[in-house]
Amino acid sequence: MQRQVIRSDTSIFKIETLGIEMPKGAGQLTTVEGVIQTIYESLSSEQSLRKEQAPELHDALVPIIDKLQKIMDRDGYPFTISLDDPTGNSWIAPTTQDSGNKYKRRDYPRTHEQNEELGIASDPNAVQNEGVAEPEDDDIVSGKVYSLPAECPGCSKDCFVNMKKVDIPYFKEVFVWATACEHCGYRSSEVKTGGEVPDKGKRITLSVENEVDLSRDILKSDTCALYSEELEVTVQPGTLGGRFTTVEGLLTEIRDQLHGQIFDVDDTTGAGGDSMASSDKEKWERFFKRLDAAISGEMKFVITLEDPMANSYVQDLCAPAIDHQIKTEDYTRTDEEEEELGLKDMKVEGYEEDEKKDDKPAEGAAEQKS
Ligand SMILES: [Zn+2]
Repeated sequence: MQRQVIRSDTSIFKIETLGIEMPKGAGQLTTVEGVIQTIYESLSSEQSLRKEQAPELHDALVPIIDKLQKIMDRDGYPFTISLDDPTGNSWIAPTTQDSGNKYKRRDYPRTHEQNEELGIASDPNAVQNEGVAEPEDDDIVSGKVYSLPAECPGCSKDCFVNMKKVDIPYFKEVFVWATACEHCGYRSSEVKTGGEVPDKGKRITLSVENEVDLSRDILKSDTCALYSEELEVTVQPGTLGGRFTTVEGLLTEIRDQLHGQIFDVDDTTGAGGDSMASSDKEKWERFFKRLDAAISGEMKFVITLEDPMANSYVQDLCAPAIDHQIKTEDYTRTDEEEEELGLKDMKVEGYEEDEKKDDKPAEGAAEQKS
């Protein structure tokens, strides 16, 4: 409740659990409790008016206002809130104790519509090549760079997305997508793996013992979670998109992204590092010191990649012999994972197809008889 919240005038704050959304409004530097208080006050202040003019709406809001009251009385836990800001200038403060699914953050490129809304689109008629279809596998030569025209998510001018297919031994096809804008310097890279949905997820554990291990290739897909007990690091799927790099490169990126969020949140208000309680600041400083030590090879640690789509990979240095520092295990996806990946609906479809297939052999048999 006391976490800091920075709400910019372009952001949308939601209380997911109650299904309510706060309209965009003036920017606010407050706490979770502060935002909820604001919503409570604005909803309840007009209730008497609603009772006369829109009794149905009044009645529908009664239970929601009750729940908000409960939350403020410290009696409505747990609840989930979200903040969505296309400018990237809002935040809810993370803590060093956020583990599992407690805190999730996802960066996304702005769409053309969002750029237009923000008034930074250069050409209002431009059509962005969003979700460029992946070219047919057969036509793509490994290692060759293919360029596709696109609209820069940063400044919305024309730029190119470069795509390259990479061959990783003993692994499936991997595509690296990179965007670099010459107008504004926007850069991003993504890794996508092809193939079908596997039956099981894959958990890979790597014990990092020396500098050689730090330079192992690692592929973390966008569905993959990463955690390390020694480093107290948990990276939720989607926080960092798909990456094909080294162990050192991945840790450095995690470090830089987090460090930027924690200590350099907003240049204009100076919020973030400066306004943080000193005990929190110390915790984060310890956390980053440990991460730095890991990156520079001063400590041993274990990292685990947990990928429900089995699309992640750690370079094996002993293949075909057994690499004792890597442990790989298949695991059954949890219901939550299946839900999040949208596999639940697909299963229903697959089921129907199976039934049709069952019919076919019978038809074939009938034909043979005649
Ligand atoms: Zn740009």
